[in-house]
Amino acid sequence: MGIKGERKIATTDEKSNRGPWQDVDEADWQDWRWQVRNRVRTEKLLDELLKDAPEISRLRRTVIRTYPFAVTPYYFSLMKPRDAGDPIRLQCIPDPRELTFSLGGVEDPLEEGRDMPLPGLIHRYADRCLAMVTHSCMMYCRHCNRKRFWKAGRAEKARLGAMIDYVAATPGIREVIVSGGDPLTLPEAVLDSFLGALRAIPHVEVLRLGSRVPVVLPMRITPSLVRMLRKHRPLWFNTQFNSPRELTKEAALACRRLVDAGIPLSNQSVLLRGVNDTCETMRELLYGLQRISVRPYYLFACDPVRGADHFRVDLWKGMEMMERISRSTSGLCVPRYVMDVPGGKGKMPLQTFSLLNDSFLP
Ligand SMILES: *Cc1c(COP(=O)(O)O)cnc(C)c1O
Ligand code: SF4
Repeated sequence: MGIKGERKIATTDEKSNRGPWQDVDEADWQDWRWQVRNRVRTEKLLDELLKDAPEISRLRRTVIRTYPFAVTPYYFSLMKPRDAGDPIRLQCIPDPRELTFSLGGVEDPLEEGRDMPLPGLIHRYADRCLAMVTHSCMMYCRHCNRKRFWKAGRAEKARLGAMIDYVAATPGIREVIVSGGDPLTLPEAVLDSFLGALRAIPHVEVLRLGSRVPVVLPMRITPSLVRMLRKHRPLWFNTQFNSPRELTKEAALACRRLVDAGIPLSNQSVLLRGVNDTCETMRELLYGLQRISVRPYYLFACDPVRGADHFRVDLWKGMEMMERISRSTSGLCVPRYVMDVPGGKGKMPLQTFSLLNDSFLP
């Protein structure tokens, strides 16, 4: 399984939670390259680690043929592997339910294809556009609304060049959202020159980076990466913590490095059944984010995307939950609960009219 390093005796609780990796050298564990090299990505290793019933493993193999998987040892170690309802496990382990289309999930519910003036660039709102610079991710989130792209490769250099030309030729764009996939899977130099080229366009005032790396591979936020990113400020960093269990010491350090470099951090969670769909869990997540200087920005209703139906939470249940939370929680902790309206109509806030709904609140 590629674990190297001399045997060491685990001395802290954290180490003993590293399961099969508890003997890995601390320096290796904290090295993002080691984490990437040692990602769990074969069915065989997954079966060994999870020890599920054979029928479950067999079904999982079918899922993997449609939707691949990869999990960093770091993220894997946050999981209670034998608990099928574990919020970490739900987000990263292929689940037979991904292949049930009973609720009619579609591949591209947001019709992102419609607002693409060129491959990978979505220009839906006049003043900003979203550039999907890669389809790769450090980990494949099972609830991802772009899972249809997972088999496509990385956007080649020519494509990035075409995106820059489009933005340069469109003076209305003042903000570019660099997204994917996960842009932090690109080589540092490629990302640096892409951000630099956008920065050189006079009408581009602000850059935004969307990445789940602080959650799934926080050790990738190295001082050298942060030095590169800070050159391109004003740069806003949006990440995606979904569970309070993801708020580890490592994640907090990654966030602190970014904030210390003058890069404001926001969070876009997805409301996921079994992961964060109770008031208690959601409040713990929101408080935890505020403690590490991450501003909760959006809470997305899970899109009706094929392969993620089992994560969807009733919209009204979500509205009631967020209504309760917003009444009793610091405004700095409360994200906007929104849904992406199918058919490319954009984001719509999901809010109850408080006065009308007093009857169902305590
Ligand atoms: C969400 C989104 C944006 C960014 O919208 P904000 O409300 O500014 O966060 C931009 N383009 C597309 C296509 C989006 O889906
Ligand atoms: S990091 Fe983002 S794009 Fe990648 S799998 Fe997770 S949700 Fe999807």
